[in-house]
Amino acid sequence: MLKVVNPATEEVIGELEEDSAESVVSKFKEASCAQKAWARRPVQERMECLRRFNGLLQERRGELAEVLTSEVGKPVKQAAGEIAAVGARVEFFIEHIESVLEPRLVLEEAAGGMTEKVSFAPLGVVGNISAWNFPYFVGANVFVPALLAGNAVLYKPSEFATLTGLAIAELLYEAGVPKEVFAVLVGGGEVGKVLLEQPLGGMFFTGSHATGVKIAEAASRKMMRLQLELGGKDPAYIADDVDVASVAAGVADGAFYNAGQSCCSVERIYVHESIYEEFVEHFVSTVKGFRMGDPMNETTYLGPLTRAPQLEVLEAQVADACGKGARLLAGGKAAEGPGNYFEPTVLADTTDAMEVMREESFGPIIGLQKVADDAEALACMNNSRYGLTASVFTASRERAEAMLQELEAGSAYWNCCDRVSPNLPWTGWKDSGVGSTLGLEGIRAFVQPKAWHLRG
Ligand code: NAD
Repeated sequence: MLKVVNPATEEVIGELEEDSAESVVSKFKEASCAQKAWARRPVQERMECLRRFNGLLQERRGELAEVLTSEVGKPVKQAAGEIAAVGARVEFFIEHIESVLEPRLVLEEAAGGMTEKVSFAPLGVVGNISAWNFPYFVGANVFVPALLAGNAVLYKPSEFATLTGLAIAELLYEAGVPKEVFAVLVGGGEVGKVLLEQPLGGMFFTGSHATGVKIAEAASRKMMRLQLELGGKDPAYIADDVDVASVAAGVADGAFYNAGQSCCSVERIYVHESIYEEFVEHFVSTVKGFRMGDPMNETTYLGPLTRAPQLEVLEAQVADACGKGARLLAGGKAAEGPGNYFEPTVLADTTDAMEVMREESFGPIIGLQKVADDAEALACMNNSRYGLTASVFTASRERAEAMLQELEAGSAYWNCCDRVSPNLPWTGWKDSGVGSTLGLEGIRAFVQPKAWHLRG
């Protein structure tokens, strides 16, 4: 049985029957049969189902947010915000699916000659192994375009967000998606491994780099489409020509929103030396104003961490940084009492040798580092095995774009951070991933082309 634990109280709030190897195989077989009929349905019918799903999501946002908060500890206001915002993603996919599926005529010669066209078919049954931190976002990035394109989906939510995964399935069924076409697999890594043994048309994974490597290894003998949305160590650079107080407040939100548990949280900050002390002062005062507490309370900004073992990772990063000369200006340890709470933590005068500036923290902790100029900032920002997002704050668009051009990251931001748009591909460079979700690229990921050579 899978125990669901509330990370704010450490109470067991549910027990769920886990899938077995046999049940995964039978769900795959059922999905495989049902997928063909689903793909043959007119795309407009699939669009209608997803439109109804979106309506139900928004109608039940309040109760769904409470379920999410109870199992991952995300402040309920942020949970409701995630569900509200996922609506725009679903709409984007519905709006663009027909144009992506439309066959393309590429050559048409006179009678007796050749006609060439390209059509786009679904991949078949795809697997989606997902993360817990934004389960609506990262789930919908995959299962919505996958279903619209005519695929069946075997969806394994994270073992830390399974109640939400099951709630998503119920809404899809209510909206008209057949049960065999979208099946939830309950369990952790072991269930994920069995899923990877099935003859899938594709595996779409969101999670850590360490697990991503295992997924890629398991998928390597299967010739399936493979997409990996992995972690990051996203840098921000604050140039010397900004409004320091407002940028400090905005970047602090980018670092601490959802207790820093976003794949695109700001994870390291480089500040121009001429405004460094002023920035540090404003940043620390913003962070000290964050309200930490019961995530069910509407006014809470920082909830507990979802996973208890991460508390030790963060404490080790603090010890490593302080041992190497960083100044601890706020927080630094797990909070007293029940729940996986970690005090919002700010370390100043960090260096690239410190773990907190190298490895994903995925928690409410940040390092601030002084740099002499844009060139040094750029070198530091690119000095990472990750490449998910990177942001530059400056009054000058020209100065920003010169840096954005050189940044080794899938998303480059000017005067904003921690931002995802349905219109743009979401993609990790380097160890942050393979492939793209969102944007038109994120729909094309779920189809395979067929080349038609027609003589006569
Ligand atoms: P995780 O790697 O621990 O788990 C992800 C999923 O993989 C879970 O469903 C888990 O059950 C499953 N899994 C674990 N071992 C497996 C195995 N051997 N075979 C198959 N499946 C297995 O990651 P997490 O803690 O759920 O998520 C946090 C990570 O996800 C962070 O690194 C974060 O940056 C990343 N993330 C990335 C994005 C993105 O878009 N790039 C979005 C959200 C989260």
